[in-house]
Amino acid sequence: MTKTIDLQVNAKNIADLKKGYPLILKEAIINVNVLTEEGAIVRLVDRDRRFVAKGYYGNQNKGIGWVLTQKEEEAIDFNFFESKIAKALERREALFADPDTTAFRVFNGEGDGIGGLSIDFFDGYYMVSWYSQGIYSMKHHVYSVLDKIVEYKGIYEKKRFDMKGEYIEQDDFVRGEQGDFPIIVKENGMNFAVNLNDGAMTGIFLDQRDMRQAIRDKYAQGKNVLNTFSYTGAFSVAAALGGAMKTTSVDLAKRSLAKTIEQFSVNGIDYEQQDIKVMDVFEYFRYAKRNELKFDLVILDPPSFARTKKYSFSTAKDYPALLKDAIAITEKNGVIVASTNNASFGMKKFKTFIEEAFKDAGSSFKILEESSLPRDFRTNRDFPEFNYLKVVVLQKLK
Ligand code: SAH
Repeated sequence: MTKTIDLQVNAKNIADLKKGYPLILKEAIINVNVLTEEGAIVRLVDRDRRFVAKGYYGNQNKGIGWVLTQKEEEAIDFNFFESKIAKALERREALFADPDTTAFRVFNGEGDGIGGLSIDFFDGYYMVSWYSQGIYSMKHHVYSVLDKIVEYKGIYEKKRFDMKGEYIEQDDFVRGEQGDFPIIVKENGMNFAVNLNDGAMTGIFLDQRDMRQAIRDKYAQGKNVLNTFSYTGAFSVAAALGGAMKTTSVDLAKRSLAKTIEQFSVNGIDYEQQDIKVMDVFEYFRYAKRNELKFDLVILDPPSFARTKKYSFSTAKDYPALLKDAIAITEKNGVIVASTNNASFGMKKFKTFIEEAFKDAGSSFKILEESSLPRDFRTNRDFPEFNYLKVVVLQKLK
């Protein structure tokens, strides 16, 4: 049994924690120096040592851990993990029952009651992501719970924390039967090839499911589509299946070419009719301008940060300039899907970026729709900072 450590909370942070703020911020704690081993159970107390909440110690970005319960007597044991995971599975029953969607998130960290842990489902395989050494030290509970309450083909894991030099060739396979990768999963009837045993990324970002469906069903028919930062081309696949006249996918990573061909192919789309460019997006914008290329639908979903040999890019700083370049090669009345997963700013700020870009471009727009995380990426409504995804679909008016 791990011993419990008392952490004294700054007076000004107590109200938020009592309201359900789940992250234990470093600056909220007076005596962080008592923490030694990640995974320790911590009791948050006020200056009179009265109980505030209970959680665990685990370094993750700006936090040093997560609140797990506000009940002083509740133990953090197998039963605790079982109740949270069972509840999360119950919330996704409709997705489990849908034969057209076989890949989705089944456990979304603090949104489902345990920060630092997420679990994704890929057609019978479960992939568990661990965001700190602290939560990873409790993995036996999570795997025992999965053994008890779900039927699975196999379990894989990703350690998404700094291994401090202990990192040796990571084998992501945990137990069950090994997948014959790529496996093909479905999302609203679209096929996607997925690999759970090939580095950090699986081939699809599950949080964009709603936007892929919207692109296929509402925005692609007959359109000339440009998909920038295209990764494995998932948005291009959605557009092609939605009747796009043609898609152009642009990504800097060399592997994106083979991966995009694969995603088109598992959907029966002839990739030779599509354009796939391994290229810097900024360079592509210049190339398109020079050649007077214009598009009816432009998808803009950059990483929060990117660094190349020539420059570094951050959406918090450079989104307006990026969007301005996109506006320049969008047809009048064309549509731009502007997306960002940067958690450091909210929708309001994102909209100011959009306004700034159109103003600089001497253009104007109207918003067709806004979208955020799908329901399986459950977030705590009181704390929008955990709801990182912001997507705005705009029409360029002039
Ligand atoms: N929009 C994609 C996910 C993008 S992930 C989807 O929904 O599936 C970010 C991608 O941006 C990565 O594949 C990375 O290789 C690419 N990237 C980063 N910087 C880039 C740049 N300057 N030009 C082109 N691609 C870039």
